[in-house]
Formats: sequence, C-alpha cells, structure tokens
Amino acid sequence: MTRMTPLLERNEQFARTYTPVALGLPARQVIVVTCLDHRVDPAIFLGLQLGDAPVIRNAGGRVTQAVIDDLAYLAFLAEQLFGGQLQDDRLFEVAVIHHTQCGTGFLADPGFRRQAAQATGLSEATLEAETVADPHATVQADVERLLASPLLSPKVSVSGHVYDIATGRVTTAVAARSPRKEH
Ligand SMILES: [Zn+2]
Repeated sequence: MTRMTPLLERNEQFARTYTPVALGLPARQVIVVTCLDHRVDPAIFLGLQLGDAPVIRNAGGRVTQAVIDDLAYLAFLAEQLFGGQLQDDRLFEVAVIHHTQCGTGFLADPGFRRQAAQATGLSEATLEAETVADPHATVQADVERLLASPLLSPKVSVSGHVYDIATGRVTTAVAARSPRKEH
C-alpha cells in the first residue's frame, strides 16, 4: 500500500469505460500553458476532454525556454502530420494562464528568494523568473516573450488569461495575437 494505491484503483475504474483517442490535431486547437498548482487544473476549470488540448505546466505557468521549445516542436509535429487538414492555415492558439495566490509569489520577497536559492541550489535569477506575484503583469510579459521568440510558428496565436482561485473564473488579460511577420 502506497499513496498511489487509491489513485491506481481510480484508474482501474477509468480504464473500464475508456475509449482511446487517435492522434490528431487537438480538438480545440488550443495549447494551455499554466501553473502546476493542484488547485489550478485546466481540465477541470476549462472543461477539457481527452484529445481537446495539450497542457504544459510548470511553476507559475511561466513561458520559459523549455516551454518555447515544446511549443516549437508541437507546431512542427502538427504541421507535418495534419498541415493539409487546416481550415484557415491556423495551427492553434497558445493560452497562457497565470493565477492568483500563486505559491511562486513568495519569491517576490528578496529574503525568501535568497533562502530558497541557498536551500535548493537554484540561482536567485531562476527563482525570480518563476515568480508570479501579479498574474496580470506576468501573463502580459509572458505573452510578449512568446510572441517575440523566433522559434514561434507564425501559424500560432497567443493569448493571456488570469484564473482567480477565489471565484474559479478565468478573465482574458491579453487578446489572442499572432507574431508579426518579418519582411
Ligand atoms: Zn501557481
């Protein structure tokens, strides 16, 4: 008996009525980037079903180089496998969702950040880059960072949203926009 035992029992229930989903474009043509917080599950608050949308999660839901790399590969894969099936030559919308009461918010305090750096071996700069103290500000910065990346497919749009832990409501902070085409 481990802590996984009851969860594996739940999986047994799940598998009994499970129907596999074939690999295809995500049904909603959305990719969600959000925080790993256990109170912030986009499958639940956005009502996602299997096959609807890939979800990338990390501390804060920040647009890191690793997130940009994953998005670049997903865009390439979708284009290779399903490029011919696109209605309007749009691959997907990347929805960056930050949230209130984020646990990374403590890192905004320099003393706490220094303590965290010493205890974990992570650099203070890395920890500062994870911080979401004002989700409206960070989601705006991360949408801009993603749109500015040369690795972002021009067939992708990016939007920014804030999930309120107190109300369960998602509000759009940055409307969907595509990267500027270079000439
Ligand atoms: Zn969080």
